[in-house]
Amino acid sequence: MAEQTVHVMAIDQGTTSTRAMIFDRLGQVVAVDQVEHEQIFPQAGWVEHDAIEIWKNTRTVIGGALAKANVNSKNIAAVGITNQRETTVVWERDTGRPVHHAIVWQDTRTQKIADRLARAAPDDVGADRYKKTVGLPLATYFSGPKIAWILENVEGVRERAEAGELLFGTMDTWLLWNLTGGAENGGVHVTDVTNASRTMLMDLTTLQWDEQIAADMGIPMSMLPEIRSSSEVYGECKPGILDGTPVAGILGDQQAATFGQACLDKGEAKNTYGTGNFMLLNTGTEAVQSENGLLTTVCYKIGDEPTVYALEGSIAVTGSLVQWVRDNLGLITEASEIETLAAQVDDNGGAYFVPAFSGLFAPHWRPDARGALVGLTRYVNKSHIARAVLESTAYQTREVLDAMNADSGVPLTELRVDGGMVVNETLMQFQADILGVDVVRPQIAETTALGAAYAAGLAVGYWEGTDDIRANWGEGKRWMPQMDEADRERFFRSWKKAVTKTLDWVDDDVI
Ligand code: ADP
Repeated sequence: MAEQTVHVMAIDQGTTSTRAMIFDRLGQVVAVDQVEHEQIFPQAGWVEHDAIEIWKNTRTVIGGALAKANVNSKNIAAVGITNQRETTVVWERDTGRPVHHAIVWQDTRTQKIADRLARAAPDDVGADRYKKTVGLPLATYFSGPKIAWILENVEGVRERAEAGELLFGTMDTWLLWNLTGGAENGGVHVTDVTNASRTMLMDLTTLQWDEQIAADMGIPMSMLPEIRSSSEVYGECKPGILDGTPVAGILGDQQAATFGQACLDKGEAKNTYGTGNFMLLNTGTEAVQSENGLLTTVCYKIGDEPTVYALEGSIAVTGSLVQWVRDNLGLITEASEIETLAAQVDDNGGAYFVPAFSGLFAPHWRPDARGALVGLTRYVNKSHIARAVLESTAYQTREVLDAMNADSGVPLTELRVDGGMVVNETLMQFQADILGVDVVRPQIAETTALGAAYAAGLAVGYWEGTDDIRANWGEGKRWMPQMDEADRERFFRSWKKAVTKTLDWVDDDVI
């Protein structure tokens, strides 16, 4: 029986774990296997991953998912990859050995490099020096400055990079290269347009690397992978892993979630609540420049079809604040307990928690901000703090939604949501209240992996077209606003005041 059934596999290489998921034609999950990897914090603000560990985990979960589904590689029509974006690996072409741990998207060590590049710009543009070309401001978040840091700080690496001995990749490229043969069997060195659009090195219009920006950052072109669409056959898995199965889809995790949520028409948006929050608005075939602190990014490109772009609001700390309350404060032992604790009170008791742990991302882009818990009085207890923690995710999302409405000129009427935090009913109701629009969770919550599976399946004809994706999407649960308008705006004004308390913190005394 199992021999005849054909599925699609997605590898979801996330910030905290790597998963392999097998889907059927209806987009239902057939099997999943997952392994966490180590978070390496060498000093304050630095976050690293061991790329070798991640590759090993990838092989483990591929085997695990196949075993759980009771199928073998012949039952897998194609593999798609989705990944934590921006995280940067540099490795040896001849051996596959990374020259340094992967530098993770949250890592802030490249602030000086970003400042240096901004200072070298004509005065009026500063951090927006490359924004017209790449859609992004100079910030520690993106890959280009992370590559520059490795080249500038790891002994001997610059010379070897210039001699063509080293390769750069985001996690999609690292896994694809290894899956398709690596050093020994001619691994394919390719990335897709969505991941490339997060490097600060790709021209959004030509979809090619910008040689001048690479030169400004001191990055040799020979390190960079070839940029391809998000849905095409890039190569086949080498024997022993998925035996000749085509790898046929790559999407950065947030773009994959947008695709998996079937936000395929201009004006449709989704918000993913994970370690951080990422809201993407499909802007169709036009790359819209934001006037309000959002990023312009590639949403997806299916084979030879026109490129679809998105506006993105990235929030660095949302679910990871819940982890911080669990791990650093010990107020809870499981993430889900934050809801139980918060439910013991009706409101935040006047406390607002702005988790600017890595500065503030969208829409503020303030690297000088640091976290603050404000509005404290003798009255405030740990339940109020738990509520303030959950509310901070909703308020940050409101800031991003306001920016999107301002940029697009067409207010969003409902928001599709997904990610690890959307099981939290208290948060979702408060989110609808504070946005004043409906919040909708789909039946299939695994939108990120599903998006990558769709991209791969479309390339090999497993699904015929995007109408299949639309047809598979079904509404799971809807939260409607219940708060009255005056309260909504009063609370949001207090939040905005709280944000001002976090700014200008980092200076010569505090780094
Ligand atoms: P990622 O893909 O970024 O690793 P996930 O989508 O798996 O993240 O979501 C995990 C995040 O969700 C964690 O940061 C965790 O703290 C948070 N989380 C999980 N369950 C809950 C819950 N019940 N309430 C609030 N936050 C939660």
